[in-house]
Amino acid sequence: MVTRSPAEPLAAEMIPAPFAVVSKRRETSDTWTLELEPAAGDELSFAPGQFTMLSRGGTGEVPISISGDPARPARLVHTVRAVGLATQAICATEPGDALGVRGPFGGAWPVEAAEGADVLVVSGGIGLAPLRPAIFALLARRARYGRLVLLYGGRSPGQLLYPAELDEWSARGLEIAVTVDSAGPEWLGHVGVVPRLVRRAAFDAGGVVALLCGPEVMMRFAAAVLIERGVAAERVYASMERNMQCGIGVCGHCQLGPTLVCRDGPVYRWDEIAPWLAIREL
Ligand SMILES: Cc1cc2nc3c(=O)[nH]c(=O)nc-3n(C[C@H](O)[C@H](O)[C@H](O)COP(=O)(O)OP(=O)(O)OC[C@H]3O[C@@H](n4cnc5c(N)ncnc54)[C@H](O)[C@@H]3O)c2cc1C
Repeated sequence: MVTRSPAEPLAAEMIPAPFAVVSKRRETSDTWTLELEPAAGDELSFAPGQFTMLSRGGTGEVPISISGDPARPARLVHTVRAVGLATQAICATEPGDALGVRGPFGGAWPVEAAEGADVLVVSGGIGLAPLRPAIFALLARRARYGRLVLLYGGRSPGQLLYPAELDEWSARGLEIAVTVDSAGPEWLGHVGVVPRLVRRAAFDAGGVVALLCGPEVMMRFAAAVLIERGVAAERVYASMERNMQCGIGVCGHCQLGPTLVCRDGPVYRWDEIAPWLAIREL
């Protein structure tokens, strides 16, 4: 009989699986979308909102949300902004190169629980990437929801992710408002911060479910406007970012109040984290 040591499941979760980059698309000046396939073994089923720990040999391992369609798990899709050592190395890969993948980890956006309600998706910058699987899932069952609204902000028109998809999503019933921090005269859309769009957007404040992802300051202001408009904090969800090392609730680096973002998040209900976010530098 084979006996398992209690450490075995933990060790298994800490060993990256080799994946091959099969396609690479430039999104903006510093952001790429990579499609990966497992070098061996099964495809990676995931829920919208989950992330993997992604690594390229010797440059460290970083949490990156899955940005692909949960109905198409054969390819693992990540949209990565090159900000430092690990993400630059990941973004420098080309088709045929290998990456290490652990996961998927973390909890999901409440896509099924929101059935019957309006859903408001609020995102800034790279924050649209973790929300993209939720948008795919919502549009796949469009008839089960009320209004579907996406409010999206970027630094400039050239920094917006997935521009062609925004048109396609709009044609499939997603109401979209985009804003940028600054733009030239050719830009005919909104200029300003995302919370301003939240103030104006049309949705049923009593029944909407709001999904927030982007810079923390944007999420704080967006949540404040939502609550001011009568949305219950229990119906607002946000994906939080903290420095993460293990991804499986062991190392403690990503602590947020009494929770660990990798284990208890990254998607949280606003009423559960708001008290902790009110404490400076927590
Ligand atoms: C759950 C989760 C999901 C994420 N999903 C994505 C994603 O889909 N796409 C993506 O591009 N990035 C995502 N990130 C952020 C990504 O993990 C960081 O950009 C990455 O860890 C930076 O590592 P680095 O070695 O490249 O840069 P570093 O050398 O570690 O840092 C470079 C710069 O980025 C800042 N930085 C480092 N880590 C973070 C962080 N976690 N949050 C904010 N700023 C940070 C540093 O302060 C520094 O200014 C996610 C983070 C979390 C926690």
